[in-house]
Amino acid sequence: MNDAVEIKVPDIGDFKDIDVIEVLVKPGDTVQKETSLITVESDKATMEIPSPAAGVVKELKLKVGDKVSEGTLIMLLDVGAGAAAAAPPPAAAIPAPAAAAPAPAPAPVSGKADLHAEVLVLGAGPGGYTAAFRAADLGKQVVLVERHGTLGGVCLNVGCIPSKALLHAARVVTEAEEMAHSGIEFGKPKIDLDKLRNWKVGVIGRLTKGLAALAKQRKVSTLRGVGKFESPNQIAVETAEGVKRVSFDSCIIAAGSRVARIPGFPYDDARLMDSTGALDLADIPRRLLVIGGGIIGLEMACVYDALGAKVTVVELADGLIPGADRDLIRPLAKRIEKRYEAIYLNTKVAKLEPKPEGLLATFDGEVKPQQQMFNRVLVAVGRRPNGADIGAEHAGVAVDARGYIPVDKQQRSNVPHIFAIGDVCGEPMLAHKATHEAKVAAETIAGHKVAFDAMTIPSVAYTDPEVAWMGLTETEAKKQGIAYDKASFPWAASGRALAIGRDEGVTKLLYDKATRRLLGAGIVGVNAGELIAELVLALEMGADMEDIGLSIHPHPTLSETPYFAAEMALGSITDLYLPKK
Ligand SMILES: Cc1cc2nc3c(=O)[nH]c(=O)nc-3n(C[C@H](O)[C@H](O)[C@H](O)COP(=O)(O)OP(=O)(O)OC[C@H]3O[C@@H](n4cnc5c(N)ncnc54)[C@H](O)[C@@H]3O)c2cc1C
Repeated sequence: MNDAVEIKVPDIGDFKDIDVIEVLVKPGDTVQKETSLITVESDKATMEIPSPAAGVVKELKLKVGDKVSEGTLIMLLDVGAGAAAAAPPPAAAIPAPAAAAPAPAPAPVSGKADLHAEVLVLGAGPGGYTAAFRAADLGKQVVLVERHGTLGGVCLNVGCIPSKALLHAARVVTEAEEMAHSGIEFGKPKIDLDKLRNWKVGVIGRLTKGLAALAKQRKVSTLRGVGKFESPNQIAVETAEGVKRVSFDSCIIAAGSRVARIPGFPYDDARLMDSTGALDLADIPRRLLVIGGGIIGLEMACVYDALGAKVTVVELADGLIPGADRDLIRPLAKRIEKRYEAIYLNTKVAKLEPKPEGLLATFDGEVKPQQQMFNRVLVAVGRRPNGADIGAEHAGVAVDARGYIPVDKQQRSNVPHIFAIGDVCGEPMLAHKATHEAKVAAETIAGHKVAFDAMTIPSVAYTDPEVAWMGLTETEAKKQGIAYDKASFPWAASGRALAIGRDEGVTKLLYDKATRRLLGAGIVGVNAGELIAELVLALEMGADMEDIGLSIHPHPTLSETPYFAAEMALGSITDLYLPKK
C-alpha cells in the first residue's frame, strides 16, 4: 500500500528562508512521530523539525544548504508502510492503521532539547524584553519565552501604559470641567466607551508591535508558551504545538507578578474586578467601590470618577498611599474627598455578596451604613510574585515563602548561572526597577563588571494631582533619626501653577543639615511624575541645595518648583517671604 504524504516545514515562528544544516534521515528509513527529520538554523537559533507522523521516508525533497520557511516541502513519507513497520506485528495479515502505531514514549524529564539558547529569558515584560534585547546587543544568542501573544508583560498590556492612557483621558475631562471657573464651558462630555477602549487598545498595539519588531531586528527568538524548569540547564515550554525543550547556558527569570486576591470574594461575578478588568472598561458603574487606597486603586478611581462613576475608596491603613509622606498625600486627599462619594480609612470589607442589583459590601469599621450596594467593585490590594509557579525547584533556584526569588547585586539567584529581575525578585514592583535590573543581569552574563546600586527608585502615583517621591522620605528620616532639614515650596507661589489653575501642589526637598546635600524629595501636583526625575539625577550626582538653586530653570514652569525649594533652603528665595531665622 502506498500512502505517501507530503511533510512540510511547520509554523516556526517568524523565521523565513533559514538554512538546513542537517538532514537526519534518508530514503527507506522508518521514522516515528516526533523523530527529528532535519535541523535548521537561523542567525541565532537552531531547531530540529520533527515528523508529524510515523512512516517510511519515500523521497527527500531537500538537502543541506537549502533554505526553508513555513510550508517548504521536506519529504514524501509513506505513512501506510511506516505504520506497518512501526506497529507491533499484527495478529492478522491486515495492515495496521496508522493510529495503531505505538504512541511516542513520554519524553524524559531532561530530554534532548529542541533549541539551545546562550541566554534564555523567561517572561517578556519590561524586565524580560529589556534583558533579552540587551543580551542580544552584547552578542548573545537569546530565546525569549512568553506565555501571552504579545510582548510587554503587565506594564504594556494591562498595567502602566493602558492605565496612563485612561488617566490622560480622565485628565482631559476634569480639566475641561474645571475651565468653567475660568469662563470656558464645554458641557457634559459624551463618552463613547467603545471608542475610548479601542483607542487604549491601539496605544498598546503600537507599543507591543514595536517590541515584536525590535525583537526581530535583534534576532531574539521568541517562543510562545508557558515555561517551567526541568533542570538547572533546561526549560520545557508548553506551546500550542506541544512541548518544546530549550536548553540554556544562562537564564534570566523575569516572570513578574499577578494580582493579589482577598479570599472568599465572589470572583466568578464579572462585577468584581481586578485592575485588568477595570482597564477593560466594560461600563461606567453608577457606584464603584475601590478596595485598596494604594497607587493602583487610586489611579483607577481617578479614571472612573472622571468618566462619571460615584467612587468610594476603602483602605485598611489610616491613610491613602501608605508609603508616601503625609504632607504629600494631603492635597490629593483634599481634592478627592470633594470629588468622590466617600473615602473610608481604617476600614475593611468583611464580606462581599453578589445580589441581582449589585455587590453588597459589609464594612468592618466606623462606616455608616455598614452595608452598601455597589454596581461594581475593584479589588486593588497589591500583587504577588510568580516565583513559585515556574518549577524553580527543578533548577535548584531558591524561592522565598512569598514567591520572591532572592538575588544578589548582579541579580544572580543562588544558582550562579540563573538570574532573576523585576517583580519576581522583590519590591518595589515597578517597571523602571525591572528594566534597570534587566540590564545588570544581561551585562553580568556578558562578562561586564556591573551591579544594581541605584541610590533610589522613584515612586509615582499618577493620580490627580500626581504624587512622586524619591530617596529618603521624611517619615523614614524621623524613624532613623537622620539629621535633616527640609524646604517645602507651596505651588501657590508658582506663577505656572496658578496659570494652570492647580496651585495645591507642594515640592519638598530633604537635605543634610550639615552639608545641605540632597537626601530625598517629594512632589505633589500636576506632572509631579515628570518633575521628580530631575531630583533623582540630583541625588545620584550628589547635588546639594546650591547645585539645584544655582541651576537656571526655565520660567514659568513647574520645573522651577525644586529650584524654588532649594532657594528656600539657601534662604535666598525671591518669590516667597521667609521670616529671618
Ligand atoms: C494597573 C497597573 C498599573 C501599573 N502602573 C505602573 C506605572 O505606572 N509605573 C510602573 O513603574 N509600574 C507600574 N505597574 C507595575 C508594572 O507593571 C510592573 O512592575 C512591571 O510590569 C514588572 O515587570 P516584569 O518584567 O518584572 O514583569 P511583568 O510585567 O509581570 O511580566 C512578566 C511576564 O512573564 C510572563 N510569564 C510569567 N510566567 C511565565 C511562564 N511560566 N512562562 C512564560 N511566560 C511567563 C507573563 O505572562 C508576563 O508577560 C503597574 C501595574 C499595574 C497592574
